[in-house]
Amino acid sequence: MRESAEVKGRRYLTEGRLTLRHVGVDGVAAVVRGDGAWHRAGYMGGHWYCTCPALSANCSHLVALRLVTVAPTKAGA
Ligand SMILES: [Zn+2]
Repeated sequence: MRESAEVKGRRYLTEGRLTLRHVGVDGVAAVVRGDGAWHRAGYMGGHWYCTCPALSANCSHLVALRLVTVAPTKAGA
């Protein structure tokens, strides 16, 4: 069964794959080691971004980042 982005993101955290590079009022930035490559993920200018091929605000890297930067109830907002 394919691991969902939600499950994968939580696993990245427990495996220590996420490193926060910047946290400020202007946004957050982090690097996340995915399956085979590092990706830069963050929140800037009111938008979530990630350099992975998923091109989605709900990719596993951003799931992991939101778990440590915003309250779960605001995830995806
Ligand atoms: Zn991603």
